[in-house]
Amino acid sequence: MAVPETNGARPKTGIKVIIVGAGFGGLTAAIECVRQGHSPVIYESFPSLKILGDIISFGPNAGRIFARWENGDIARAMRKISIDLQAYGFNIHKWDTGEVVINQKSPPRDETAPVFNGHRGELHEIVFNYAKKLGVEIVLDSRVDNYWETEDAAGISLGDGTRVEGDVVVGSDGVRSKARTLVLGYEDKPKSSGYAVWRSWFSNEDMLADPETRQFCENGDTFNGWIAGPDVHFLFSTLKGGSDCCWVLTHKDEHDIDESWSFPGKLSEVKEVLRDWDPLCTKIISKTPEEKLVDWKLVYRDPLPTWVSGYGSAPGHGRICLLGDSAHPFLPTSAQGATQALEDGVTLAVVLRKAGKSNIKGGLRAYQDIRYERVRKVQKTGETTRDMWHNTDWEKVKKDPQSIAFPREDWIFSHDAEKHVEEVGDEIIAKTSTSVEQQA
Ligand SMILES: Cc1cc2nc3c(=O)[nH]c(=O)nc-3n(C[C@H](O)[C@H](O)[C@H](O)COP(=O)(O)OP(=O)(O)OC[C@H]3O[C@@H](n4cnc5c(N)ncnc54)[C@H](O)[C@@H]3O)c2cc1C
Repeated sequence: MAVPETNGARPKTGIKVIIVGAGFGGLTAAIECVRQGHSPVIYESFPSLKILGDIISFGPNAGRIFARWENGDIARAMRKISIDLQAYGFNIHKWDTGEVVINQKSPPRDETAPVFNGHRGELHEIVFNYAKKLGVEIVLDSRVDNYWETEDAAGISLGDGTRVEGDVVVGSDGVRSKARTLVLGYEDKPKSSGYAVWRSWFSNEDMLADPETRQFCENGDTFNGWIAGPDVHFLFSTLKGGSDCCWVLTHKDEHDIDESWSFPGKLSEVKEVLRDWDPLCTKIISKTPEEKLVDWKLVYRDPLPTWVSGYGSAPGHGRICLLGDSAHPFLPTSAQGATQALEDGVTLAVVLRKAGKSNIKGGLRAYQDIRYERVRKVQKTGETTRDMWHNTDWEKVKKDPQSIAFPREDWIFSHDAEKHVEEVGDEIIAKTSTSVEQQA
């Protein structure tokens, strides 16, 4: 496989990395593995690439990763289909009166660390095609049924009985991960978070035709949030020059737990929740085609004790790891789920290069040690933002409107995953390698 020099690929390491799942986590791990000199191959259960999902967010700490790919061409392609809020910013309204409490300006554009909010399926297609262009083998229509490992190798079994062997297996198989059960040695049951999200993405013809909603589409992209109805918040954006729109409404829900993205929702239920709200919210909701409405139950998982087999209390030989949502599902209010999966992928590829083929175990343990505490802290912000928006003290907001703004935490956004692992990787690998030797 020829890797164009512009991708900064390093000498071959001889490490074969089997990646399960071609979501943003798996694709990024594969792309970064190519950059670091490994040989990745992805197995994905979807029979073909489909444009699925709706809005997804990537913070500047993800943009910094995308910006390094193909001399910035990938980030430029993503920019074209992502929301542009340089002019409009983010209007936060009081939920019942509709008054705009604050207009939160977007930070100036930084092409070395861009921010992307756009359609999950469309952005995913760009990354998928880039992985293919780099020569990553992506085997579609291949459901991984089993994982195995020995002291010297790790691998997977497919539905048709095929066994594939490599040096490392990465379980980036999403929230309903099978790899998780294998790594942990028990099934980690999801809990209801007590919340669900209704979400929808559709084209704006009806919005444009209505004088009350036209304002959101006729002059380009917009972003508005109605905050702190009793345990509910509503976010609404228009994208692609105002031609598409999407909204998400987080609300209390103690019912069934389902992590599917395509659970159908009912408009009448949404309208009922918004009964006492600013009437503009119901106006926006009423433009939604019912078949485009998804009801997605937000599942919570306690942080896993480990992401790596044979580490801590986990059984196994230390060659299988979890990455992205399989290791750490996020609440949407963190707006960091996909971004953290990207940071995982970068970190994993670099530690494997540093540790080398003869020290896969030490490398994977270092991957966990470098990522674990940061991910936990970022996960927590999903809860704090949701709670801030659901229990708003309006007296305080009157005095300090900034207190209700969407938090932009510098410790999250300024992080450069590649630089960080290059800086701390050797020292941490030295420690984890000692722990591997002591265990042997
Ligand atoms: C179809 C879909 C739509 C989504 N839509 C949105 C959205 O609109 N907004 C949003 O914020 N997030 C969405 N997400 C989730 C979001 O992409 C992730 O939270 C984030 O990007 C982290 O990605 P990940 O790679 O860890 O997991 P995922 O993106 O969930 O990817 C996991 C991949 O593993 C594959 N897989 C699972 N089990 C197996 C198996 N046994 N064998 C082979 N392959 C397997 C899945 O098909 C999937 O492609 C969606 C995810 C999916 C799969």
